Amino acid sequence: MKVIIIGAGIGGLTAALSMQQVGIKVKVFEAQPSICPLEFGINLLPHASRELSELGLKSAIDDIAIRISATHYYTTNGQLILSDPCGTFAGYRWPHWSMRRSTLQNLLLEEFTALAGDKALVYDAKLSNFVQTGNKVTAHFLNPATGKIDKEEADLLIGADGLHSSIRKKMFPREEKPRYSGKIAYRGITIAPQFLDGQSMAVIGDTAQQLICYPTSKQQLEKLNGKSLVDWIAFLSVDQSQLSTSDWNKEISPAQLENNLASWQFNWVDIPQLLHSTAKVYQFPLYDRDPHRQWTFGRVTLLGDAAHPMLPTNSNGAAQAILDARALAYALARCSDPMAGLEDYEMDRLEAANRVVKASRKEGFGRVLEIAANYSPKENEYLHDHLPLKEVQQVLMDFKNKAHIGVEQVNSQSSYSLDHQQ
Ligand SMILES: Cc1cc2nc3c(=O)[nH]c(=O)nc-3n(C[C@H](O)[C@H](O)[C@H](O)COP(=O)(O)OP(=O)(O)OC[C@H]3O[C@@H](n4cnc5c(N)ncnc54)[C@H](O)[C@@H]3O)c2cc1C
Repeated sequence: MKVIIIGAGIGGLTAALSMQQVGIKVKVFEAQPSICPLEFGINLLPHASRELSELGLKSAIDDIAIRISATHYYTTNGQLILSDPCGTFAGYRWPHWSMRRSTLQNLLLEEFTALAGDKALVYDAKLSNFVQTGNKVTAHFLNPATGKIDKEEADLLIGADGLHSSIRKKMFPREEKPRYSGKIAYRGITIAPQFLDGQSMAVIGDTAQQLICYPTSKQQLEKLNGKSLVDWIAFLSVDQSQLSTSDWNKEISPAQLENNLASWQFNWVDIPQLLHSTAKVYQFPLYDRDPHRQWTFGRVTLLGDAAHPMLPTNSNGAAQAILDARALAYALARCSDPMAGLEDYEMDRLEAANRVVKASRKEGFGRVLEIAANYSPKENEYLHDHLPLKEVQQVLMDFKNKAHIGVEQVNSQSSYSLDHQQ
């Protein structure tokens, strides 16, 4: 069986490595001249770190990633709402890792090309069309730099080409544009004093604005003298009329944010200083799409953001892409008919991923902050004199159950590894 994967993002590369490991011949085509991952951090929750562990990457990632111990939720005046243990600290068999995106993507790339060879990844190859004939699919490519046209034939074509997937566009030509959430995520990374236990994620805010910060890399910690590389994301509401598509990944002045978050100066972390010390701040308007009932048409299927773009409110988009990739490789390895493999993959993943898309629109960390904001204490009052803590805990529990990321669910989930290695 020969498979073509379009897109060398986290989803495409995890699929490529997973397939190559089970003996499926893969070729990856990437529109860009190289993989140019964002320099920001990424959180990989235990359902995703399990899959990367089963791919054999556990010790490599443990050497560079931070094992997050807990997520601590705070009000805008710095009162602790709740602490939610994470990963192995919560009883999962796998960690909650935070690391740099570039490190993860490069690791996947190295592992894949070590197995499949450098020629198995083609850069400057932008998919322009695909045609299904008989028992084959032919993909057509354009080299954006030279204008050269090329093509490749295979048994299957996988669209791991992200939010603006051209494969999805061909499958659903009348689909509307991605749906703007009304929020922009502003992101930065900087060296800052360690906060809390040095391996925690903090979520601060109310209904109008939120900020998440966490340490992202174990590398060079010893040289940083009590400081760490801290990744932060601020979510602010911005009207659609102020947006254009070119606003994605655009550099902005941190001063804009510093005004908004000027009072978030607490004895455990100084947010204005964190923003001030950040050299470059980028904005990411947040989009998703309404879920579809079908990802597979004949010999072509979708994976990751191409299949189910979701809001990043629960650190789950890349995790779901990783699960897709693993489920797809597993299904193909177990079926002698490639199309039956695609059917099994879609059966396994479509409902589950679509549930997370919907839940990410209104649940998760934002709900915790929202409930706490409704019980916002008056001056000199203590939040927990009024806050119904059980309700807040239930909100988190409900989301985890829906997204299938509760401790028992993840620990008892059957493996996508043929040999069940861990
Ligand atoms: C602010 C923010 C924070 C996030 N934080 C987290 C987090 O902590 N944890 C988490 O799990 N998720 C997180 N996510 C979500 C996560 O980033 C995405 O879900 C994930 O990167 C999707 O991976 P992918 O491989 O499906 O797509 P992408 O990463 O978009 O990769 C698609 C690839 O396809 C290529 N491509 C596109 N079109 C073509 C074409 N025509 N031909 C060839 N190649 C093409 C692109 O160049 C790209 O390399 C976050 C998202 C945002 C916006």
